[in-house]
Order: sequence, then C-alpha cells, then structure tokens
Amino acid sequence: MTWFDGIDLLGTRCTTCQAVFFPPHHGFCRDPLCEGEDLVEHRLSRRGTVWSYTNACYPPPAPFVAAEPYEPVTLAAVELDEERIVVLGQVKDLTVDDLSVGMEVELTAGTLADGHAVWMWGLPR
Ligand SMILES: [Zn+2]
Repeated sequence: MTWFDGIDLLGTRCTTCQAVFFPPHHGFCRDPLCEGEDLVEHRLSRRGTVWSYTNACYPPPAPFVAAEPYEPVTLAAVELDEERIVVLGQVKDLTVDDLSVGMEVELTAGTLADGHAVWMWGLPR
C-alpha cells in the first residue's frame, strides 16, 4: 500500500461521510456513527500549519536506519489546511529554532539515511 507517491500524500476518503484517513485505511469507515464501507483514494492538501514539533536527538530503534554518525532530525506534526487532520513528518533544512506553532509549511520530499524517499515538511515555496 502506498502512502506517498513522491508528489502528494495519499490517504483515503469515506464516500458516505467524507471523512479522510491517513495513513490510507480501507474496508470500513472508522467513524463509529458511519456505516460507510467504500473508501476511495484521496490526495491530501499540500499545505498546513505546525501543530507541534520536536527534535529527535537519539536515533530511533531498528528497523529505522540512522546516519552514522547520527545527526539529529526535526519532526513536525502538521495540521492540513483542508482536511484538518494532523500528519507527522520529518522537517527538511530547518531546526526547532526555525519553527513555531501555527507557522505555515508545505509538503516536500527528502531522503532518509538508507536512501528511502519520504515526505517531509518544509517552508512554502
Ligand atoms: Zn464514513
């Protein structure tokens, strides 16, 4: 299942109540008041505001592949403008000193130490 196609984040949307899920969720709607079972792909909006952030000063456990020597990364939880859901991601080219709650960020792409391409949050272009 793909979460990210290098351009947009891919979630799912319930065709009954329009609720959006990320990571993509299939099978049945998670809203306990909705009986919808038809969830379709939904491209998430690319902009949002910083809801919270932190730095990761210690490498996460395996299977995460950390850079050697480990370089701390910055993580942000971003509330998407349209869907109003919060998506966690690594922040590209910014530190916690550059971030503040409520600042606008935009989806971008980056590469992890093991070469995997992932979504990241960055300054709006
Ligand atoms: Zn639903």
